[in-house]
Amino acid sequence: MSDLSQLTPQHLWQHFATICSIPHPSKHEEALAQHIVSWAKERKLFAERDAVGNILIRKPATPGMENRKSVVLQAHLDMVPQKNNDTEHDFEKDPIQPYVDGQWLKARGTTLGSDNGIGMASALAVLSDESLVHGPIEVLLTMTEETGMDGAFGLQPNWLKSEILINTDSETEGEIYMGCAGGVDCITTLPLSREALPAGYETFKISLKGLKGGHSGGDIHLGLGNANKLMARFLAAQTSELELRLLSFTGGTLRNAIPREATLVVAVPQSKVGALKQAAADYLTLIGHELSAVEKGISLQVDAFECGSKALTQDSQNRLVGLVNASPNGVMRMSDSVKGVVETSLNVGVVTTEQDCAQVLYLIRSLIDSGKQYVVEVLMSLGQLAGAEVKTKGGYPGWEPNPESPVMNLVSESYKKLFDTTPHVMVIHAGLECGLFKRPYPDMDMVSIGPTITGAHSPDEQVHIPSVSRYWQLLTQVLKSIPEKG
Ligand SMILES: [Zn+2]
Repeated sequence: MSDLSQLTPQHLWQHFATICSIPHPSKHEEALAQHIVSWAKERKLFAERDAVGNILIRKPATPGMENRKSVVLQAHLDMVPQKNNDTEHDFEKDPIQPYVDGQWLKARGTTLGSDNGIGMASALAVLSDESLVHGPIEVLLTMTEETGMDGAFGLQPNWLKSEILINTDSETEGEIYMGCAGGVDCITTLPLSREALPAGYETFKISLKGLKGGHSGGDIHLGLGNANKLMARFLAAQTSELELRLLSFTGGTLRNAIPREATLVVAVPQSKVGALKQAAADYLTLIGHELSAVEKGISLQVDAFECGSKALTQDSQNRLVGLVNASPNGVMRMSDSVKGVVETSLNVGVVTTEQDCAQVLYLIRSLIDSGKQYVVEVLMSLGQLAGAEVKTKGGYPGWEPNPESPVMNLVSESYKKLFDTTPHVMVIHAGLECGLFKRPYPDMDMVSIGPTITGAHSPDEQVHIPSVSRYWQLLTQVLKSIPEKG
């Protein structure tokens, strides 16, 4: 911890050191939450929790600032618990061990929790630093953001009194966020029938590997290869020529990651074995050429494979291949209100086959609820054509960008004045809690800022120390400049 005590701004880093010392992985934030509430009460600040555990702390305006609009500073309490295979660490008991490495703060073998611990520390620093000048402050710390946004879902109307909210959960200093995409999972389940392979068939495993993959929100516009889509296309094109029979189709691991790998088990008549290998080699050349600007390492391998399983009936095979091949994927529409930003997208994330059914998992994202709904309806129609059942799960709303937002413009102006450069005003094609805050507080004027964090959600997570100082300067300057109540 001695490392951290040398850093400035001191209040912020002291709070972060305390946060690191109290375990707070998602769903186990209680110890940290109780510590913060007692700390606030000792300081004679109003502090209370709601039914889902969110914390609200109020600090009155500093002298002469009573007339300013009230501001919510918001962060989430939990962190993602990830560690390296060779690291011994119990996230529910052991403190995080931060250390300074040049300009970066890292943790020993684990996630650091700078997402959103620095934001939380900055909000607490505003409460404890008596040298600051600001209007009325509300600090809102939400529960369990990383595994379902439980706190944001549970936030009730009429609890917060402010009309402005500053979210501290974005991860690039110099970027100001004014909107984010919402999301919903779609799960399509197709019943499968199977039968014995005809006599004289040989089975093979076809493995597609080496695609880059990436975040299904942030990287969806890059035109990367989707292993599931590429495999379905191969099957659709080759099935009748090769008299190919499908035994299994497995691709991707997470609905929110662009799938890097997919594996098929197929069978062809002995007379078509040479043609299968040739078709795979030709297809690799074709997709390698089509995707040459973005994918450099694709491999497609055909190996003899013993498999006792029965094949899909021709009808089941046609339905499954048709379903995946006809599924839309990637960017569906760009935003009209913010140039260069994706409005609506989807990722065909995971395909699996069991004995009697196949499943396709999609993640749909959109800045607007109706964009998400449109894609859900497309997938419903497709499921109907294929004879599959389509369900949705875990939907959360987007935060529709407002280029006229007064607080966003104030943050942008303050940044220009402080650092003599124009910040990038952005919309993130992934989830922030702000979309959910708009439900109980539809008129809240919101913006999101934060320091530069890389490798979030992995043991490589690190925060750029000088960016924390700039973020703090920006935050405190904005609080000083909040306009008077209208
Ligand atoms: Zn976060």
